[in-house]
Amino acid sequence: MKKRTASKTTRYPCEFCDGKVEPRIIRAEFHYQREIIFIDGVPAWVCANCGEQYFDALVYKQMEKIAEARHLIRKIVSFPLAEFQPVA
Ligand SMILES: [Zn+2]
Repeated sequence: MKKRTASKTTRYPCEFCDGKVEPRIIRAEFHYQREIIFIDGVPAWVCANCGEQYFDALVYKQMEKIAEARHLIRKIVSFPLAEFQPVA
């Protein structure tokens, strides 16, 4: 899994594919310590081509705060998790 970090001020093109990066409100997958926390309604910049996500430094800091206060999280969502099987 790719590690996502706060990005710089220039939004495009995408660092990975040169695609156009657009502002979106997303459900962010935030890696905190050894956990993954999903945060809804996060303003992010998403590459229209490859889907790479970029966050403003302030947004990223705020997500860290939310993750630190994860004992306050009330909603636990479970989802099916499959294991990828390589084609033999
Ligand atoms: Zn891209």
